[in-house]
Amino acid sequence: MSEIFEDITDNGKVRPWRERKIENVRYAEYLSILEFKRAHDVRGCGEVLRFRKIGEHLKLYQTWFCKKRLCPLCNWRKSMKNSSQLKQIIAETIKQEPTGRFLFLTLTVKNVMTAEELKQSLRAMTKAFGKLSRYKKVTKNLLGYLRSTEITVNEQDGSYNQHLHVLLFVKSSYFKNSNNYLAQAEWAKLWQKA
Ligand SMILES: [Zn+2]
Repeated sequence: MSEIFEDITDNGKVRPWRERKIENVRYAEYLSILEFKRAHDVRGCGEVLRFRKIGEHLKLYQTWFCKKRLCPLCNWRKSMKNSSQLKQIIAETIKQEPTGRFLFLTLTVKNVMTAEELKQSLRAMTKAFGKLSRYKKVTKNLLGYLRSTEITVNEQDGSYNQHLHVLLFVKSSYFKNSNNYLAQAEWAKLWQKA
């Protein structure tokens, strides 16, 4: 008789090990059909999870992950790791600059239809963001930022939408007056210029 364990977060949510592993197995099958050598590694990803009991809790202490770029299991783990690192970075940032304020900025451009256009557009956006982040109006209050790129697919017409999610950390003086504050329309203008 075997027991099925659940990995539960502090918030009481069940971690989707099963779902991710099923997707991982499907990916391994595609690779094996295509006779890709890495199929074997992907198949073996997270096959055995050893948890250690610490007090009331079980903590994952031994396993093996394939670290392949498209592995669903590894990508899920990576996003968890990223978010925990992000939390630490933000905590440290607030410690260093207690009066700083966070802003969410989303930057996008027109959808594109092909992979080639997407590649060019992403390159242009990265360059434009570099410019934007160096404009005087922006730098004078900017303490730092985090940027991530996201691409979504429009199911209706098959086009791609590429956008940047930016977390800006600004001095509190940003909100002081109209010389410092940038309204949404001004951000849009600066982005278009960049
Ligand atoms: Zn993996």
